[in-house]
Amino acid sequence: MRRRRRRRAARIRRGIRVGMFACLVLIEASVGSAIMGARGTRQEADTEQQQIAAAPVMLQMPEKEDGSGRAGQALRTGRKTLVQTLSGWQQDSQGWWYACDETTNYINGWATIDGKNYHFDREGYRDTGWTAIGGEGCYFDEEGIYDPDADSSMLIALTFDDGPSKYTGRLLDLLENTGAKATFFMLGRQVEKYGSETISRMNELGCVIGSHSYDHTNLKEAGADTARQQFEQTDALIAQYNNGEGAQVIRFPYGEYTKELAVDTGRACIFWDVDSMDWDSQDAQAIKEKVSSSIDGGDIILMHDIYESTVAACEELIPQLQAQGYQMVTIEELAAANGYELKPGVTYFGFTDFEKERGTVTDEGREAPE
Ligand SMILES: [Zn+2]
Repeated sequence: MRRRRRRRAARIRRGIRVGMFACLVLIEASVGSAIMGARGTRQEADTEQQQIAAAPVMLQMPEKEDGSGRAGQALRTGRKTLVQTLSGWQQDSQGWWYACDETTNYINGWATIDGKNYHFDREGYRDTGWTAIGGEGCYFDEEGIYDPDADSSMLIALTFDDGPSKYTGRLLDLLENTGAKATFFMLGRQVEKYGSETISRMNELGCVIGSHSYDHTNLKEAGADTARQQFEQTDALIAQYNNGEGAQVIRFPYGEYTKELAVDTGRACIFWDVDSMDWDSQDAQAIKEKVSSSIDGGDIILMHDIYESTVAACEELIPQLQAQGYQMVTIEELAAANGYELKPGVTYFGFTDFEKERGTVTDEGREAPE
């Protein structure tokens, strides 16, 4: 799970651009030149040489944008050529992949192996858990087998802002005991104090690590230079306890942002559906009632792990919601289950049917809400 999270984190940062572009360029370069003659110019190839150097060489058309089409077969590169087995399932430090024969492996699409359906990502590793394919959320079990009956209607994402704090450890105990996952949008100044005892644990529990600026400045007012500096500083602090990696997702303080600032972060920027108002009430009972009366499947819930009352509320709320059939997942999983692969620089307002009907899931090519 950890490996997968890190791999996906890298993918989110790189985004679709490099992945899809690399595949398309390579089809031009390999299949294209072999079958149809070299169509792309030498100049184009040189410009993108750096980007595509590590990408696999496609021998077939990969999956289309709408998720149709079968997996391509790619020439194995790098460490994969060191594997002695001729064909079949292979595992390395990043996950499971499938050798079709001595020189190729499945990549980027569906494949049926021994009567079971699998899906391979753009690096050739089999997907597990919720995965967005052609705008649909598809579920694959721990062995990567597709489950067409999986239901995403009761998934919700708990998000905790402004921490970590002295109460975060207690919250992590709760997540561990209940199997719930969460997303943490942390402040750099809090990471300085509490990061060492919390961040690696968040990672181990499958939580998603997010940034909320260094000191909760209104970045829309402060401007692009301050925003960049605040996110860089916070990334560096988080990286100390996160295998050298910064935050995977962003939430702007007060939700104050511009599209330019969001693009500048190079990561997906996340809003929320339900505000627990925990900062206002600071009362466990009130927080519990507010959330349980407002919540619906697909919601992103905003809370703050800097109040003891919030953690106390969660200790009752999480088991109660689980008993009602809700499952608490990360923001990344919630997005995938609803058919969205989080893209860098795009702002997401929520993944519920309500948001989809309003056309406000993202600010990319759609109108942002008031
Ligand atoms: Zn905040």
